[in-house]
Amino acid sequence: MTILCYHSVECGWESPLAVEPDAFLQQAAWLQRHRRLLPLADALPRLDASGRLPSGEAALTFDDGFAALHEHLLPVIRRTGLPATVFLVAQTLTPQGQPVDWVDTPGTKPLTTLTLDQILEMQDAGVDFQSHSWAHLRLTELSEAECVTDLRDSRELLSDLLGRPVTLLAYPRGLHQAHVRRAAERAGYTHAFALPEGREEPEDFAVPRVGIYRGNGQLALRIKAARPYLPVRTSERFASTARRAKRALRGRPWH
Ligand SMILES: [Zn+2]
Repeated sequence: MTILCYHSVECGWESPLAVEPDAFLQQAAWLQRHRRLLPLADALPRLDASGRLPSGEAALTFDDGFAALHEHLLPVIRRTGLPATVFLVAQTLTPQGQPVDWVDTPGTKPLTTLTLDQILEMQDAGVDFQSHSWAHLRLTELSEAECVTDLRDSRELLSDLLGRPVTLLAYPRGLHQAHVRRAAERAGYTHAFALPEGREEPEDFAVPRVGIYRGNGQLALRIKAARPYLPVRTSERFASTARRAKRALRGRPWH
């Protein structure tokens, strides 16, 4: 019933953004058994007015394009055909590049992003790549004109490099406001994805996703993949599930 948002899949980076490879394998297997996983473009027309997919359906997205996805996501996709969309920060693919300077919990060794060769290899294996802006700035702090430039530059560079149209955007940190949503549309996108912390009005330029973070176990995944936009029930009957869910969901980062 929802669109899930991962970041990296790797060990050795102690961050909520890095799901352990073993945990990811278990989650992917659970999702494939219990959910119909849709390519993101196929999921969009199926969203209802509240931004949810029909019961039993889900889609997988990955923000930031971390290099570890080549090692830990690509083999799973080759083996299972699982559909996935990765949102790339365009400036990381320019000749001068961009270091991963936007992460609040960077860990001990420098983080790297996918190279163009790795991206094209993953695209050949069926991975869908879309835009996560030009430079991972907080778009809400830019003017509308600055947002249009950032988002258009990203869409155009990525379309060129990938050799296919890029029409979807994931807002950096999920942050958006009315002028950011207008800019996304003016920059040529058809939809943009958020990461709502609370209730947000869903629309084409604020499609809700649910973040999956390190330490989220099977129970958290089940809850998040089932009823993401409702509070966990806290009546007596559900109190124990709620307590376990809260433990599993604890430590949600601001990203
Ligand atoms: Zn991001």
